[in-house]
Amino acid sequence: MGLTRTRVRVEGIVQGVGFRPFVHALAGRLGLAGLVGNDAGGVFVEVEGAAETVERFLAALAAEAPPLAVIERVTATSLEPTGAAGFAIAPSLAGGDRQTLVSPDTATCADCLRELADPADRRFRYPFINCTNCGPRFTIVRDVPYDRPATTMAAFEMCADCAREYGDPADRRFHAQPVCCPACGPSLALLDAGGVAAGGDPLAGAAARLRDGAVVAVKGLGGYHLAADAASEPAVAALRARKHREDKPFAVMVADLASARRLCELGPAEEAMLTSPRRPIVLLRRRGPAGPGAADGVAASVAPGNRSLGVMLPYTPLHHLLLEAVGRPIVLTSGNVSDEPIAYQDPEALERLGGIADWFLVHDRPIHMRADDSVVRAFGGRELPLRRSRGFAPQPLGLPWPFPRHVLACGAELKHTFCLAKGGHAFLSHHIGDLENYETYRSFTEGVEHFRRLFDVDPEVVAHDLHPEYLSTKYALELDGVELEGVQHHHAHVAACLADNGEAGPVVGVAFDGLGFGPDGTIWGGELLVADLEGFRRAGHLEQVPMPGGAAAIKEPWRMAAAWLDAAFGAGMPERLAVAGRHRDRWEQVVALGRSGTAAPVTSSAGRLFDAVAAILGVRDAVNYEGQAAVELEQLADPAEPAAYPVRVAPAGDGLLRLGGADLVRAVVAELSTGVPPPLIAARFHNGLAAATVAACQAVGQETGLGTVALSGGVFQNMLLLERTVAGLEANGIRVLTHSRVPPNDAGISLGQAAVAGARDRAREGR
Ligand SMILES: [Zn+2]
Ligand SMILES: [Zn+2]
Repeated sequence: MGLTRTRVRVEGIVQGVGFRPFVHALAGRLGLAGLVGNDAGGVFVEVEGAAETVERFLAALAAEAPPLAVIERVTATSLEPTGAAGFAIAPSLAGGDRQTLVSPDTATCADCLRELADPADRRFRYPFINCTNCGPRFTIVRDVPYDRPATTMAAFEMCADCAREYGDPADRRFHAQPVCCPACGPSLALLDAGGVAAGGDPLAGAAARLRDGAVVAVKGLGGYHLAADAASEPAVAALRARKHREDKPFAVMVADLASARRLCELGPAEEAMLTSPRRPIVLLRRRGPAGPGAADGVAASVAPGNRSLGVMLPYTPLHHLLLEAVGRPIVLTSGNVSDEPIAYQDPEALERLGGIADWFLVHDRPIHMRADDSVVRAFGGRELPLRRSRGFAPQPLGLPWPFPRHVLACGAELKHTFCLAKGGHAFLSHHIGDLENYETYRSFTEGVEHFRRLFDVDPEVVAHDLHPEYLSTKYALELDGVELEGVQHHHAHVAACLADNGEAGPVVGVAFDGLGFGPDGTIWGGELLVADLEGFRRAGHLEQVPMPGGAAAIKEPWRMAAAWLDAAFGAGMPERLAVAGRHRDRWEQVVALGRSGTAAPVTSSAGRLFDAVAAILGVRDAVNYEGQAAVELEQLADPAEPAAYPVRVAPAGDGLLRLGGADLVRAVVAELSTGVPPPLIAARFHNGLAAATVAACQAVGQETGLGTVALSGGVFQNMLLLERTVAGLEANGIRVLTHSRVPPNDAGISLGQAAVAGARDRAREGR
């Protein structure tokens, strides 16, 4: 039988995931000669042997690839056989066209956990154990090709044992770049708030102090966390007070699935998300009643008044050891004050967290890129991301349409991300934070530079929001030599949902959120669009009201109650409304401010309607974080209640559909005055808005012939509204697109912007 030699190129996430040892082992098993190596384009292979065996090799290459590999393309070309024997690993080649995809950080694998617990293993209880299938990646990579000198492990010279494993193609640590052991790798230290090392075993010391009620900063994979005993009310309360975080729920880390099950209800989708190698925080429904006296042993102030709890499982060996030593769940929250970016560099962390943490459990492996924990929940058996960061970034999102030119999409403001795109890939960044201060802004601009280098993207087209005051917009406008592409905020939401689903539209797009800049100079946020990737027209929106005091109305939902009650009743506003009574000294003044048209921008925001109803029902008059009142209104609603308030949906004088928000407000007030329990009112409000949205989509669908609706925007993080809207649309034969790869909130905006910019670029090129 004739000898053939084939050159194979493998593209995708194929570096840092054990691909070369896999190829080496496969070739060895089949008795093929040749070589394998990394270059900036991925992995290259040459195999020589019987034609039939080479065929088997090619089939197994895709079918048996390592668990973390994502193969996007395999191309094979034939070469002249050389007759050389043996199979070799070729040195990495730098330069060239950097198509390589850097893998996200990955949770400790079962093999490493077994060694971690094995007293006979040389890495017994070593907090930095990892292998080709697990460990740090994105957060330690400084450059590509992905090799040890291009990571933050460069400074740790391998000992003879580690070097042997690293160099042995039969070893499961063959070419695992972060490979290390107690003899040669990073080590832990426990420091007091002044940076002075404590005596004894750092891990045992940290665990003991946590059990005693201390707040301990823990250096993790993508940054510092703040930890406290989740069962201790004083410890969690102290953490809240020092972090200046009033009510926003904390996430907890539990040792294993069994512990998670004791706290929360888990279905198969939830279990799969909790145990996935990405290890996100999963929002779960609590078993016990939330609040003081909750039976689950979690302190009330972990997630005050919340029926959900954010839970994650350990994802580094350090976390596994810490949870075992503490013996019960711990709060694990971002190491920052208030809304600043998470701390990830050592001297900076000590300084910034010095007033919060009593102790610091640190190590000497530098973090190059910070990455916050990701947050997901289940919807319809699928994953619905709320924050896509550690474990996800920088894995590219494959899109069915190529970008003719490289694109940078600068994102919006809150929950900021940016996105680079080229070829058929969108590289959505990790979570940057709320782009409102210098620290976050710097983290955005540095992130852009890092991604550009890693993925060799040189943007010619730069997409941005239309809001002139967003720092992301200002950044875009200051760039030289690029083509700018302004993308309306809610069009970007709908485009993000389209791109998330790999579709191009046109669809009826529903974008409900807090606010976004409208091209007519008003603030949008309750929008019905007819949209494809390239463009949109506004087909309808929620009835508009003023925001008395502008930004003050976002922080104080009672102001939105005043505006909505005025819109609903005018001079005939019922007397003795509790919300008016609570603010009687300023009520008339705020109503007048809304009517005056000064310092009272007009908005169609759905988020602000939720705020208003929350205030009317006495849920909350002022918020400590964006969306808080709406979250609590959802918590209040009785999910078993099927009734819905009727809402008028009809074209206004301008021909655009109006969803009558005032109808909802009038119904809420009427039922409140007759003593209907608030949980029923909250539910009927949700159901009414969902029904109105369905009716509006039907109307636009009839007019345009479009049978698909895309739901996006931060308001659709509300599970009750999302469920009811999807159910109503589907019951009427309408196809519904929701999010499963990027968040519906503003973190998904940058993907939408990139998709729009790419579509317009293709249109210009006539493709
Ligand atoms: Zn491993
Ligand atoms: Zn070693």
